[in-house]
Amino acid sequence: MFSGDELIPRLKDLFRAMDAAYSGAAARVGFSCTGCDGARCCTVDLTVSTLLEMKFLRLGFDTLESDAKGKILRRSRFMVKAKEEDPTGDAYRNSVCVLNFDGSCGLYLYRPMICRLSGIPHVIRRPDGRTLTGDGCETYRKETEPAHPDLRLDRTDLYREMAVIETEAVRYVGARTVPLTVAEILFQHDQST
Ligand code: SF4
Repeated sequence: MFSGDELIPRLKDLFRAMDAAYSGAAARVGFSCTGCDGARCCTVDLTVSTLLEMKFLRLGFDTLESDAKGKILRRSRFMVKAKEEDPTGDAYRNSVCVLNFDGSCGLYLYRPMICRLSGIPHVIRRPDGRTLTGDGCETYRKETEPAHPDLRLDRTDLYREMAVIETEAVRYVGARTVPLTVAEILFQHDQST
């Protein structure tokens, strides 16, 4: 039976490629996240759309000590409840990611794709010919962009490979996964174990 484990090595390869592309671009323009508290990037209950990223996050969670798991699960329960009660309310919208502790990601090696790529402006060339662009973070815009207005990290091949791997997972499972937030993924994982 397909568990998702079969495709994790390919996801890890892809994440390595993403990290290399990101750090290469950052080095070219002298951009660094060092010293940033992550308050902007991680002030969100991030939505994850792929089955494999969810699986990888759960694998990472299972490696934690019970104290860390307990803290994350308490936060996740709060977050899921706050979202259920009022997804547009302050209690939910103003919460930081359940994995962010003092500005650091508690599952850094297992974090989803978007956490690996945000910060630097990007471009995506879609199969239909359209080109999408996105801005860098506030720090990048203030401190780096003025001297390097043209840098854009091309995410096209990275997204394409993610789509290929995920399509394979969906083919095995027989259905697309429902997008879930980080808090929901970990909350549901706890309920199912
Ligand atoms: S998973 Fe980690 S990097 Fe991503 S938003 Fe949460 S704390 Fe930040």
